[in-house]
Amino acid sequence: MTDYVVPPPAISAVPIMGSSQLFPVRRIFCVGRNYAEHAIEMGSDPTREPPFYFTKPADALVINDGDMPYPSMSKSLHYEMELVVAIGTGGVNIAVADALKHAWGYCAGLDMTRRDIQNEAKKTGRPWDMGKGFDHSAPMGALVPAAGIDPARGLIELKVNGKVVQSSDLSKLIWSVPEVISNLSHLVRLAPGDLIMTGTPEGVAAVVKGDLLEGVVAGVGTVRTRIV
Ligand code: MN
Repeated sequence: MTDYVVPPPAISAVPIMGSSQLFPVRRIFCVGRNYAEHAIEMGSDPTREPPFYFTKPADALVINDGDMPYPSMSKSLHYEMELVVAIGTGGVNIAVADALKHAWGYCAGLDMTRRDIQNEAKKTGRPWDMGKGFDHSAPMGALVPAAGIDPARGLIELKVNGKVVQSSDLSKLIWSVPEVISNLSHLVRLAPGDLIMTGTPEGVAAVVKGDLLEGVVAGVGTVRTRIV
C-alpha cells in the first residue's frame, strides 16, 4: 500500500439517477459566454469567437440537493444555470462528428460565481479562479446516461424561490455540445471523469442566504440547492 505523508483526497463523485453507482470526477471544465444573450448582458460581443474555458476543482461539487454555504469575501454571489456533460471516454483531437460518443451522460448544474471577484479579475487582467473555482461553487443534479439524450435542444430553466429567472433552450448554445467536446480535446487530453459545464443563458443575478435555486434541463434532470 502506498504510504502517503498526508491523507490522500477523497474522490469527488456525482450520483447517477436511479442507481447506487457514482460517477467519479476528475476535472471540471467550464465554457465562458456560450449563449449570445448572456454574452451581451456581460458586456461582450456574442460573435462566434472560439470558446474559452476556466476550471473548478473537483471537490467544489455540491450534490444530493445539498445546501450551498454563502462564500466568503463576496457580496455578489451569482447563479449560472448550465447543462453539464460527463466524459466517459477520453481522447485528444476528437472530431466533432465523433464527440458525442465520448459523453457518458448529462446533468443539470450551477456555475456559482463570486461576480464581484470575477469582475475585479477581468478589470485587472488577473485569473478568474477565485471568482469561479471556490468551495461549493458547483451544485449538480444526478447524471443520466447519454443514450437517448439529444443535447442539441431542450428547455434550460432556473427558478429562484419559485420564480423563473433564466429560461432558454440548448439550441441557443453558440458552441454546441459536440463542438465544445471537440474544441476542448484539442487543448487538453480529455479523460473519463471530466465534467464540462457548457455555459449559461441570460438572466444571471445575485442570490442571498435563504434563497432556493431549482434548475431543470428538459429531458436531463434537475439541480436544487439552498444558499445558507
Ligand atoms: Mn458559466
